[in-house]
Amino acid sequence: MHSKDCVKVAVRVRPFNKRERDAGSRCIVSMVSNSITIQDPRDSQNRRLFCFDYAYWSHSGFVRDRRGLFVPEEPGGRYADQDSVFQDLGEGILENALQGYNATLLAYGQTGSGKSYSMVGYGPNKGLVPKLCERLFEDIRENQETRQCQVVDLLSRASRTPGGLRVREEQQRGFYVESLRTVPCESASQVAQLMEQGTRTRTTAATHMNANSSRSHMLIILQLKQIFSKESITKQSNINLVDLAGSERQRSSGSEADRLKEGTAINLSLTTLGNVISSLADAAVGRKVVHIPYRDSVLTKLLQSALGGNSRTVMIATLSPADICYEESLSTLRYAERAK
Ligand code: ADP
Repeated sequence: MHSKDCVKVAVRVRPFNKRERDAGSRCIVSMVSNSITIQDPRDSQNRRLFCFDYAYWSHSGFVRDRRGLFVPEEPGGRYADQDSVFQDLGEGILENALQGYNATLLAYGQTGSGKSYSMVGYGPNKGLVPKLCERLFEDIRENQETRQCQVVDLLSRASRTPGGLRVREEQQRGFYVESLRTVPCESASQVAQLMEQGTRTRTTAATHMNANSSRSHMLIILQLKQIFSKESITKQSNINLVDLAGSERQRSSGSEADRLKEGTAINLSLTTLGNVISSLADAAVGRKVVHIPYRDSVLTKLLQSALGGNSRTVMIATLSPADICYEESLSTLRYAERAK
């Protein structure tokens, strides 16, 4: 794997939603190949250009009304459905994991911008995670003769432990979460079931803590162990699937103090993750990096082994095309740019 392949960043612009259409929103995003320009809706001279590894429009939802409000004059860029996104981002991750290297997929963006759509998907529009699991088990079935595989999913029981689970550190193992449950899986549908269970736990836990589930991170860790008995080789790798907390500034319910505490922890972890990925990206292109700040947040401690070394990291940053989301979309693009 070429070092510049370590971190890949994709930006995906979702279709307009009903609220934005009802508000008569304008599209402020334009694309040329893999670069994206965003325009300040209050100042047409104020434009910013960002370049990424991939940039995608969505197929539907760019309805042109009589005044042409929703569609940019020359859309440029590429329209991508769930399959194309999987081909670009998911296949590399799987390939890396099958070779025995860790791989991490992160979704970053404002709540409602398409993180879950891209990661998990809705109904028949399956996202990266179910597609990746299906492909993984297909591969396992196809190679049953030469290799025994075991995939395990870790399910957090944080909601049932007062104060949450402890993060520990060991020399060999690095950071890990104590008393996580590990479940051996035999099919993609079993993984899907566990993910549903995990998502429910995430929502319940958030409600208990008087918080919003979109203000928590969700980590799905698939542990893959391949045993090639003929050659007596074992390859072990983790695929980390990370649905990050919504990147927007916190302004929902809850007491001011609670909100601040929660907001600060989430913002710290998102900022630290940004710093870690950006240092890794610098190191990958040969720039001198003195210190990678893994220890600055729990999230980056847990992702340490997933992000460095031979790991492959893919970030999909999601945003709305609408003028009313300008501030959040600009901050998402800035965050994603730092990872390059
Ligand atoms: P988030 O997880 O960031 O809070 P969601 O993934 O739930 O946001 O997306 C919000 C809504 O937008 C959902 O109804 C989803 O189906 C729709 N959506 C998001 N991205 C796309 C896309 N690329 N194509 C079509 N619909 C999308």
